[in-house]
Amino acid sequence: MAWMFPTIIKNLFSRPATRRYPFKDIREPFPGYRGKIYWDVSKCDLCGDCARVCPAEAIEVSLENRQIKYDPFKCIYCGTCMQTCLPMAISQDKYYTKPAAAKAVETISVPV
Ligand code: SF4
Ligand code: SF4
Repeated sequence: MAWMFPTIIKNLFSRPATRRYPFKDIREPFPGYRGKIYWDVSKCDLCGDCARVCPAEAIEVSLENRQIKYDPFKCIYCGTCMQTCLPMAISQDKYYTKPAAAKAVETISVPV
């Protein structure tokens, strides 16, 4: 037990090693940070390529219902869907995804 005292004393007088995200000290994301995914439904042709390449199986495309289902809690923010989409209907912003109390899948409707 005594061998822990130097560490305990040091920690009592040092600053916390972590930040209280998302309550305090929020930093601007670094350039090129892969943040939240957005769809521009006016460009989407429901080809399904984004769902086929997604390594996390976070996207489902339904041609019948003209809908895209996106699960942000499965998404690993790799950007592969964005790079694969030929009409460039997917984009990523530079902001962190906010924490959520409940998991929810986003449904994106694609107009005719
Ligand atoms: S977002 Fe792009 S890759 Fe995905 S279904 Fe629409 S057009 Fe195809
Ligand atoms: S960013 Fe990666 S994990 Fe997230 S939906 Fe796109 S391909 Fe899937």
